[in-house]
Amino acid sequence: MNITKFIILDGQGEELASDASGENLAFACLDCGHPVIAHSKKGKRGSCEDIPSACKNCGEMYFLDIRKRSEKLYVFNVREFNA
Ligand SMILES: [Zn+2]
Repeated sequence: MNITKFIILDGQGEELASDASGENLAFACLDCGHPVIAHSKKGKRGSCEDIPSACKNCGEMYFLDIRKRSEKLYVFNVREFNA
């Protein structure tokens, strides 16, 4: 799914510093600020909780929750999501 124009939010619903292009999303790790890439395409890294994107610096894992109708996208931290 093309997410270029989506509003990108973190798990708390706060707007997230990010850059979406096509099916790719770059954002700053919520823990350490290192760049992380996630994909909206099903089966690719970061597209769901089972295939998270990991921060290459601190190891935090993230996945996307896409709300097509409202054109919003939430970036969830796996650890916080399961807490
Ligand atoms: Zn990190």
